[in-house]
Amino acid sequence: MSTSGNSSSGPRFGRVVLKISGEGFTHPGERGIAMDAVLHIARQTSQAAKHGIQLALVIGGGNILRGAQFTSGNSSIHEATAHYMGMLATVMNGLALQDALESLGCDTRLMSAIRMDGVAEPYIRRRARRHLEKGRIIILAAGTGSPFVTTDTAAAQRSLELDADILIKATRVDGVFSDDPEKNPHAVLYSQLSYEDVLRQNLRVMDTEAIAKCRQYEMPIMVFNFRKEGNIEKAVMGERVGTLIQTAGKVV
Ligand code: UDP
Repeated sequence: MSTSGNSSSGPRFGRVVLKISGEGFTHPGERGIAMDAVLHIARQTSQAAKHGIQLALVIGGGNILRGAQFTSGNSSIHEATAHYMGMLATVMNGLALQDALESLGCDTRLMSAIRMDGVAEPYIRRRARRHLEKGRIIILAAGTGSPFVTTDTAAAQRSLELDADILIKATRVDGVFSDDPEKNPHAVLYSQLSYEDVLRQNLRVMDTEAIAKCRQYEMPIMVFNFRKEGNIEKAVMGERVGTLIQTAGKVV
């Protein structure tokens, strides 16, 4: 682990993978890209980066397109093709976020898991690590580069290969609930869970595949509400702002 700064006022984590879903790139209930929403994320992220935390952002694409939309039998688009379209959507979000971060003076690199040399650097693990060490915020687009999975799986994968201290998932609700809080007002917010709790209770946090990977390698996951001002900064600094998922009995 690359933990830096053990003082109570310093950041708890040295290197963080932050997963931002496509919904963060637009207004609630809307599709496409809204630059004020992108700037909101960029501002919060740049605040967090000022503490010297190495930040890798894994970007979703659901605000534009998800491959699963095309799985019905009467679609003439092959499901794999649709997933590639979804991955391209994440690159569009990545380009928007790159410009937003740079407009705030952040040194940023967009890296894509699908080669598109005129637009983004190819994702190469060792190069990504080098950027992080140099203090650049890296934006990791195009997921894993392979169809039939989502960017949650990409976030789990990247957090492991980049030796992140934690995977932080930004969502539009306050953390992990016993039920959908947008539909059930009695849903209970959990402050801490084990991977087994999540899998056994089938809680909607991330893909099962992503949770299983994190469980296998004991990568802690924090789920929090990115729409609340300052939450991204608090989360990467190690403040408990949502639900922490980790091996039962372990403390991060
Ligand atoms: N996708 C994929 N492989 C990956 C990552 C993403 O095929 O490694 C496709 C998949 O169709 C997915 C879409 O890209 O639905 C957009 O990503 P995601 O749904 O994870 O976006 P989010 O829900 O985070 O906005």
